[in-house]
Amino acid sequence: MIKTRKSLIAGNWKMHLSRKEAGELALAVRKGLDPDMKHEVLFAPSFTNLEAVRQAIHGSPILLAAQDVHWEDAGAYTGAVSPLQIKDAGCTHAIIGHSERRKIFLETDEIINKKLKSALKNSLFPVLCIGETLEEREQQKTYRVLQTQMQKAFLEIDAGSASKIVIAYEPVWAIGTGKTATPDQAQDAHVFIRKELERLYGENFATGFRILYGGSVKAENIDSLMAQPDIDGVLVGGESLKADKFLRIIHFRV
Ligand code: PEP
Repeated sequence: MIKTRKSLIAGNWKMHLSRKEAGELALAVRKGLDPDMKHEVLFAPSFTNLEAVRQAIHGSPILLAAQDVHWEDAGAYTGAVSPLQIKDAGCTHAIIGHSERRKIFLETDEIINKKLKSALKNSLFPVLCIGETLEEREQQKTYRVLQTQMQKAFLEIDAGSASKIVIAYEPVWAIGTGKTATPDQAQDAHVFIRKELERLYGENFATGFRILYGGSVKAENIDSLMAQPDIDGVLVGGESLKADKFLRIIHFRV
C-alpha cells in the first residue's frame, strides 16, 4: 500500500530524563536512523531538556516539539512557557491537549482552542491530542466525544491554518496501560475523525490531513498499526525512551 500522506513518528518523553540522558537518547536515535528514511521523526522532551536535544539533533532531519505551550506570547503566567519561548528554544511543533494535561491539569476544550490558535499564529505546527476514556467507550460515546473535542478545538480556525495541525488519536484507556487499541479499532476511529474533518473543511482538506495513533505503541504492534490506511503515524510515550525500541518503531515495516 502506498500512502500519499507523509508518515510522522513522534516520541513524547513526558516528565522523564535528565538533560544528559535526553541528549544521549536523541543522539543514539539520530545515529541509528536509516539515511533513506522518507518520513518525519519528532522528539518532544521536557522544556528543560529542549536545548540538549536541540544540540544533539542539529543538522539532522529530526524535528523538535514542546509538550505544551501557553496561549499568550508573554505575561504574568507563572510556570507557563509561551509560543515565542519554545520557538526560541528551537521547536517547530507543540503537543496540545494531551490527555494527561486534560485530566491532571484540567485543561478544557476552550483552553486547547486558545493554545491552538496561538501556536498557529506563531507558525508552530500543533499536534492536537484527542481521545475517549474507557467509560466513554463502554457507553458507546467514542464518536460523540471525538466530534465534540474536534469541533471545540477547531472553533474559529480557518482551513489554511487548520491544515498545519496533526491530530493524534489517543484513546485514554490505551495510554501508558500496555493496552493498545487493535488496528481495526484505531482505523475505525481514524476514519471517523477524517469524516469529521471533511464535514468541517471539505474532502481535499481531509484527504491530505495526517492523523496519528497513540496508546501503548511498541515494536510488537507498530507494523500492524501502520498497515492501516488511515493511520499516518504514531505518538509514542514509554517506548520512545529506549533508543533500540524507538528505532524499531521509527523503521516500521509495512
Ligand atoms: C503518550 O504519551 O502520548 C502515549 C501514547 O504514551 P504510551 O505510548 O506510553 O502509551
